[in-house]
Amino acid sequence: MGARSGAEYLAGLGNKREIWLDGEQVADVTTDPRLAGAAHAIAELYDLQLRPDLIETMTYESPTTGDPVGLSFIEPRSADDLARRRRMVKTWMDHTSGMFGRSADFMNIMVTGLALDADSFQRPDRPYGAYLRDYYHHIRERDLVLTHTLVTPQYDRSRPVEEQDTTVAAHAVDETDEGWVIRGARMVSTLCAHADEMLVAPSSYLANSPDAAKYAFCFALPIDAPGMRFICRPSLIPQGAASAMDHPLSHRLDEIDGMVIFDDVLVPWERTFVYRDVSMCNGLFNRTGAMAHVMHQFSTKNLAKAEFMMGLAMRVAESTNVDQFLHVQNMLSEMIVFTEQVRAALVASEAEAQPGPGGAYQPASMPLWTVRQTFPQQFQRMCEIIQIIGAGGLVAVPSYAELAGPHAGDVERYLQAANAGSRERIRLFRLAWDAAVSGFSGRQQLYERYYSGDPVRLAAALFELYDSDPHKDRIDRLLDDLEGRQAPPGTGRAFT
Ligand SMILES: Cc1cc2nc3c(=O)[nH]c(=O)nc-3n(C[C@H](O)[C@H](O)[C@H](O)COP(=O)(O)OP(=O)(O)OC[C@H]3O[C@@H](n4cnc5c(N)ncnc54)[C@H](O)[C@@H]3O)c2cc1C
Repeated sequence: MGARSGAEYLAGLGNKREIWLDGEQVADVTTDPRLAGAAHAIAELYDLQLRPDLIETMTYESPTTGDPVGLSFIEPRSADDLARRRRMVKTWMDHTSGMFGRSADFMNIMVTGLALDADSFQRPDRPYGAYLRDYYHHIRERDLVLTHTLVTPQYDRSRPVEEQDTTVAAHAVDETDEGWVIRGARMVSTLCAHADEMLVAPSSYLANSPDAAKYAFCFALPIDAPGMRFICRPSLIPQGAASAMDHPLSHRLDEIDGMVIFDDVLVPWERTFVYRDVSMCNGLFNRTGAMAHVMHQFSTKNLAKAEFMMGLAMRVAESTNVDQFLHVQNMLSEMIVFTEQVRAALVASEAEAQPGPGGAYQPASMPLWTVRQTFPQQFQRMCEIIQIIGAGGLVAVPSYAELAGPHAGDVERYLQAANAGSRERIRLFRLAWDAAVSGFSGRQQLYERYYSGDPVRLAAALFELYDSDPHKDRIDRLLDDLEGRQAPPGTGRAFT
């Protein structure tokens, strides 16, 4: 089949998925007013990959069929392949202003990264690595959209999951010839309503004990697997809005987050990649190299997002001439610095790429860690700068619908600014509102803070990962050198 069109993607959403929203089951994701915007935004992305002028940027030849398949599935064989993949991701991310973090490329790259190290999944009793390779081929050739879920529900974070006095967290309860049975919940699964498949993977460290083994797994299921349901947070789309232009990001890009419940769901063996294997689960993403690929994807997302926020802030500032003030220029240059730092990290990660598992090229991870660790604060600051620059204008602009209302004349006259007519001003400031102030923006800020893990524990992980010995050794060498030095002539002060 290969790379899908938007219509093919939408047609695939018609299965019997169990998506619960506002206390009711969603009948049709493609037409429900709370979910249709994102479904159609994803369809637009799929259409982009088949556009004649973009197909070369967006796809590559399937190694098995020769058909064009999405380029985010590529197993990079060179730094050039990484740059190609970045251009593909950037095209999608520019289309969504970097505000649709979980478009299909995110999981395509994650699964590709894991499958590159499939050998490490093999076990004498079952060929889990071969199952993973098969799964990678399955989703690549059908161009499927994945959601994923890593973390256990928040119940009592002071104790490891296996020591809690409840069985809320999803865990293995039984085995059959066909597979094993899972019961319980996982906490966040972004894009669950719009996905074809779900990957359930480990993230938190588990104790190396028999009690923890039932939480140690990695597998994938179709989104409509019997017994699996998703309970979602309320939509961010203001349903009573007079115009979609009033909430232009919310209307298109609410990718929805849901909790997944496994009501004794059968996981077939051939969809299982890790089973009751704590040591395989702990550190899985860094050990396999998948994390470096995922960071390359989300740093590209962050570049698109930073460019968007910067351009938006500059346009807002220009509209009322506040970009002539020194402190406003200072804030705008902060945004330039954020943006260019992300770009530089991406370039560095490609320039210093090294062969990794599966003979593929792996982006250097340290430049990308700098993006992972700084972007959450940078994005919040970008929202703050837009608030500072837009100021009261952000609440003074009315609905876009006023342009066609009985007081259109007032709107025309009193909403204009030095460098923007009233229509331009309203649509610009409503976009700025949605990007930097609205509930949609609040969720984006939360997303940036947590989507890649808890920043506190990530910082500790970075400290553990970092190759600090050369730097510490350098300090020792300097001190050794100083100790042995003679006093400079005339000073009388030796270092010994
Ligand atoms: C918008 C959004 C979308 C998301 N999408 C997905 C998704 O698609 N798939 C997915 O798998 N996950 C997703 N996540 C979840 C994300 O992986 C988690 O939020 C993240 O890993 C942090 O875990 P937590 O939310 O359980 O926070 P908690 O672990 O409950 O942490 C809450 C607070 O307690 C502190 N804390 C808790 N435990 C410890 C500890 N042991 N040591 C030190 N401090 C601790 C943390 O520092 C933090 O301040 C999403 C999250 C958000 C906000």
